This record gives sequence, structure tokens and C-alpha cells, in this order.
Amino acid sequence: MKLNTKAMRYLKAEDWRVLTAVEMGSKNHEVVPTPLIANISGLRGGSGVHKCISNLAKVGLIAKVKNAKYDGYRLTYGGLDYLALNTHRKQNNIFSVGNQIGVGKESDIYVVASPSGVQRVLKIHRLGRISFRTVKANRDYLRNRSSGSWMYMSRLAALKEYAFMTALRDSGFVVPEPIAQSRHTIVMSLIDAFPLRTIAKVPDPAAFYNKLISIILRLLKYGLIHGDFNEFNILVEEKADTTESGEPKITLRPVLIDFPQMVSIDHANAEYYFDRDVNCIKRFFERRFHFVPDEPGPFFKDAVKVVGEAAGARRIDVDVEASGFSRKMAKELEAYMRDVGADGDGGDAEGEAEQDEEDEEDDEEEVEEEGQQGAIELDDDELDQAMTVLQINDDTPE
Ligand code: ADP
Ligand code: MG
Repeated sequence: MKLNTKAMRYLKAEDWRVLTAVEMGSKNHEVVPTPLIANISGLRGGSGVHKCISNLAKVGLIAKVKNAKYDGYRLTYGGLDYLALNTHRKQNNIFSVGNQIGVGKESDIYVVASPSGVQRVLKIHRLGRISFRTVKANRDYLRNRSSGSWMYMSRLAALKEYAFMTALRDSGFVVPEPIAQSRHTIVMSLIDAFPLRTIAKVPDPAAFYNKLISIILRLLKYGLIHGDFNEFNILVEEKADTTESGEPKITLRPVLIDFPQMVSIDHANAEYYFDRDVNCIKRFFERRFHFVPDEPGPFFKDAVKVVGEAAGARRIDVDVEASGFSRKMAKELEAYMRDVGADGDGGDAEGEAEQDEEDEEDDEEEVEEEGQQGAIELDDDELDQAMTVLQINDDTPE
């Protein structure tokens, strides 16, 4: 599926102003009253504003809502996508948009390209796409939040992911390079690799297992638990290398992704999340590579004794809080994720059990299928052809 950017080139500067006005109005209004839109946009002469509103509604960037008290408009995901893309384009982070390469439960992943043609990844957070619609019980709870909507939650997820990706990279973890964040989206470097999920065989499972466990332990040293450390969120890069005696060999380098659910070691359920991360990897190695480590653990209780400065590491959990992703934001996002059960690709226990059975039935075949599902494979030519340049009227507001 492609991100539909077609309507972009037909939008005039006034349309963008009105779209921006709807976004600004949404900060305090679930449904933005039409007079407020006119007011914020600063466009004189009512008919002009109404024309813009109708243009935007026609292409689905805003939607009309009839409220008990008044009629008005709300921004759609399409509208928010356009605003974010426009910002990325203005800052020269994105020049063209290509195909969707990843399918997440609450995100869309696209290949994009910089003005100089370097391929990058655009991750669009879509919290609430599944949950707000299907989990009725949560609706009241969401309505009662300050600006508790899909838009706000998705922005929090993007902010959090960007903050952690930046801090992790600064501390030498192998993660994608964070390039920019706008609204509910982040731009990062493209990792030329497939998720562990799609890999049928590794040369030395014990060594690779130890490498992954050492990442979990190193995160802990920095005060963090990934919280979703599984075969979907570890991309495996293959590097051509040579042994000491000069023989060619392939080295596997794990690249960690997906950070909206990271938790601090001070979290009340830290032990639960740590153990779940460790067990996810253990279970996967046993099922896929028939590898079982000799020793039990690692266990949170032992590992957490050496953290932070004592281990010569900073506390990233503390740093991130200071960097703009506040404790209040963290709490709001966590409450949402907990309530809708969105804290992990692994999903609920039932889903996992079903998955186990499938795996046992036909392991090989599943590897192939997943190859197309989790990450969609395209060769370079296809990617080039698929790119659509973002054509936007140049006097759009920031
Ligand atoms: P979600 O939060 O929805 O699980 P992820 O960040 O895990 O989203 O991304 C989903 C999939 O998209 C990944 O499993 C991977 O296949 C692909 N992907 C995400 N980020 C990158 C990247 N920087 N480079 C290459 N592929 C990526
Ligand atoms: Mg993921």
C-alpha cells in the first residue's frame, strides 16, 4: 500500500493554512467549530475559508462532525500525515515517498528518500487505529483525558521513540539513526536487513543468542528495558568478514528497533518486562534454532544490582525525561498502551499460543510467508520507480 500523496499538489497555500488551523484548534477542541477555524486561519472573507474547508473535506484531510452543541471539523489521519510530510519536506528530510515496507500493529512504515536520493524510513504511528474502534470500553476513558485522542497518543509514541532512539544511539547501541520527528511520525535511516523472525538458520545460534542477551543486559545497565524485545524488533544485518586465519565468514549484527514501549528499571513492573524480554528470545531460539542455553536466567534481581554510574553508564531513562519526553507524557502513553493491550508485537497470551501451534506445524513455510508479511521485499529498481516526489505549493505555513 502506498501513502496517498496525490492530493498534495492541488492544495493551495490557503488550503494548507486552513488545515493547520484545524490542527491548532484540535489542541483544545475535539470538534473544531467552523468560526474558530476561520479565526485561526486568519483568512478574511468567509467564503474563502468555506471553499478551503470543502476542498480539504473532499480529499479526506478533515471530516465534518455534528456535535450536540455545534457543527465543526476534526483532523483525520490523512490530514495529520500531510502536515507532517510537509514539515519533513520543508526541513529537507523527505523529498519523495515510496512503498510501505513494514506492517506494524499500530504503525505504518514507508521507504522515503532524501533530496539527494538517500533512502530512509518514515514510521507513522497510528495508535487507536485498531484499539479505539474495537475496544468500546475504552472510549469513555479516552474521552476523559486532557487531549486524549489518537492524535495525541500517536504523537507521544513518536516523541518517545525519537527520544529513546537518539539517546540509545548516543550511548553506542546499534539502532537506526534518528533523523527527524514531526507530530506522529519519525524519519530514520533505512536498515538493509530483515527481522530475525524471517531468518531460518544462523551459523552459530549460541553466539547469536549471547549477543542478544548481552544487549538486554547492556540496556539494563543504562536503566532500561526494551519491553518488546522479540524476533520482529531485531533486524539482522549480515556483514562479510574474515576469520583470524583469513577465511571469509559472515557476521550477524543485530539492530534493535521499535521503542515506544521502553520502560525504566524503576518501573513497578520492571521485573515482569525484563523476564518477558529474556523469555521471548529464549522461546524463539528454542523453536526456530532448537537451541537451549545451558544456564538459566539472566534474572532481573541479579542483573539490576549493577546499573548506572556504578557500571560506568549513564541512566538513559533519567536523561530522556530531561530531554522533553516528560514523566507525565510517559505515564499517559503507558496508561493507553496498558488499557488497550498494545504493549508489544507479541500480543496477548492467546495470540502467542496460536502462533506456537502454527510454528510447529510448518516452520519452513512460515519463514517464507513472514518474509513477505513483516517486511515487504522490493529490489532497488522497484523502489526507485515507486518513489513519488512530494509536490507542494511552496508558500505553505510551517
Ligand atoms: P511497530 O511498532 O508497528 O512494530 P516497528 O518499528 O517494529 O513498528 O517496524 C515494523 C517493521 O518495519 C519492522 O519489523 C521492520 O520490518 C520494518 N522497519 C522498521 N524500521 C525499519 C528501519 N529503520 N529499516 C528497515 N526496516 C524497518
Ligand atoms: Mg515492532
